[in-house]
Amino acid sequence: MKLTTLTDFYQKLDATTKRLEMIDILMDLFEITPHKEMRAVVYLTSGKICADYIGLELGFADKMVIKAIAKSIGKAEHEVNNLFKKKGDLGEVAEQLIGQTGQQQLEAFFTPSEKSEEGDLTVENVWDILNKIALIEGKGANQKKTNLLLGLYSKATPVEAKYITRIVLSQLRLGIKDLTIIEALSRKYGEGDDSRQIIEHAYNVTSDIGTIGDVLAKDGMEAIKKIKISVGRPIRMMAAQRMPTAEEILEKLGGTCALEFKYDGERVQAHIDGDNIKLYSRNLNEISNMYPDVTAALKRSLKSSQVIVEGEITAWDPDSERLKSFQILMSRKRKYGIEDAMEKIPVRVFLFDILYKDGESLLKKSYPERRTVLESLVKEDSVIVLASRENVSTPDEFVEYFEKAIESGCEGIMAKDIRKETQYQAGSRGFLWIKHKFDYSSAFNDSYDFVVVGGFYGKGRRKGTLGTLLMAAYNSEEERFETVCKLGTGFSDEDLIKITSDLMSITVEKKPKDVISKLEADVWVNPEKVYEIQGADLSTSPVHTCALDEIKKDTGIAIRFPRFIRYRDDKKPELATTTSEVIDAYKRQRLKST
Ligand code: AMP
Repeated sequence: MKLTTLTDFYQKLDATTKRLEMIDILMDLFEITPHKEMRAVVYLTSGKICADYIGLELGFADKMVIKAIAKSIGKAEHEVNNLFKKKGDLGEVAEQLIGQTGQQQLEAFFTPSEKSEEGDLTVENVWDILNKIALIEGKGANQKKTNLLLGLYSKATPVEAKYITRIVLSQLRLGIKDLTIIEALSRKYGEGDDSRQIIEHAYNVTSDIGTIGDVLAKDGMEAIKKIKISVGRPIRMMAAQRMPTAEEILEKLGGTCALEFKYDGERVQAHIDGDNIKLYSRNLNEISNMYPDVTAALKRSLKSSQVIVEGEITAWDPDSERLKSFQILMSRKRKYGIEDAMEKIPVRVFLFDILYKDGESLLKKSYPERRTVLESLVKEDSVIVLASRENVSTPDEFVEYFEKAIESGCEGIMAKDIRKETQYQAGSRGFLWIKHKFDYSSAFNDSYDFVVVGGFYGKGRRKGTLGTLLMAAYNSEEERFETVCKLGTGFSDEDLIKITSDLMSITVEKKPKDVISKLEADVWVNPEKVYEIQGADLSTSPVHTCALDEIKKDTGIAIRFPRFIRYRDDKKPELATTTSEVIDAYKRQRLKST
């Protein structure tokens, strides 16, 4: 398949913000994609070259791309840089410049066999080269990567150059989430009403959208049904809803439920295959290198050869036998000096679930059954322990357990449904698990994880920094971000410097397509940073777009008096607080005040 065919579709996708139109365009694209190229087309369209959990990065910085563009057109780097400053998008810069001069300047750079015509690039060929680029490491890596990019530019049309540039910088931003691709694939390849569910399940247990596209195109639904859990490949994690009172939670969970401590650390999914152990974070990034102490401890304490378990890694003080804060654990997140960090910040892992054991998926088993298997397999020691757990049936028992959790240094409790139909719902946020934190006990001071979508420059002491941020909730049905407050308090001076530098590296020229805002920010950023904030209460707002028209026409819901609490680098934007959670919280608050 020619790359131009694919980039023609990207232009169509770029021209719409409507999800249904995007699905139609994707279906047309899949219709003409040769089966053997489906994997590459799906990965590239979702802006990557392989499944996220593989951790392969293309590793391009703006500077390297500027260099490649400059070389490709025989101009000085500063000239390219000047245009970049004006346009704010290197994709557009590549399109304009590479289009302007044609490819003559490259004559001297390539041998005759390497030279070819503009428009000759194929999807397969580009994908192969991108994979090659991602694997380059060590001395001279940047130069080698830049040369391969230059090779691509030499054959690219202006529009291809634009999209190649965006892909290598991980800035494709067509506004397409994996679930949109799943929807288009289900419509194209589905057979029967439950196809979407089956495909989504296969995606949830593989965490690999390219493989799903590939299997569907080549072998259809029958093959998708056969996709199984594979140890070493992460499963998309189950998430929790929130509720504010013991009474509501007990009622929702059928009168009796299990309560567990809600440990404040980092979620881990451990894949154990004999001596081969892989740890995955909530975002499905591999974190094994950061926690050699955890892998060693798991090896000692799990009496089985092949298992997938989940738990929370926490910072732990062995002297006082107490939990330490999430912030302290985060200082373990580093590439170098791991041994030193391990010594300074010991950890304890609280296991709470098991998804797979020796050839058998446990996803469909009820939670009590899974917990019984887990208990039978774990030999507890100073690092690996089971999450504290108790069944309760009355609000008094609930509150007593909750207080025990807070006294032990936890942020709250997790209430879990223990009825028969309580399978592990991979990738979904349902009411089988309900989180209840200290701050939810009152309608006030609820905490939320919102996504930064824009910033406003500070005044006075805050001059030169982004002193106020535009925050958004995630609308999971529409797959877009809707603004919910302006955040300007709770930052230390160091926070302001860090936030400004983090955000300035992800600025975009125009408001991203998947951001819905009535406000005009000084700078727009790609929605990728999640921050936890605390708010006084919720009110309707004509300015914000979260839950627009849900409560009142032309009016959204806003968080009043928001305060920054902490960075949530462990969460992807799609794991942020959702619009429907904000609507629930607003309705609950209203019920309380009437
Ligand atoms: P939140 O990140 O606030 O949405 O809360 C859900 C997170 O709580 C999970 O992703 C886990 O990282 C964490 N957690 C802590 N203790 C437990 C537990 N006992 N069961 C399940 N999740 C837990």
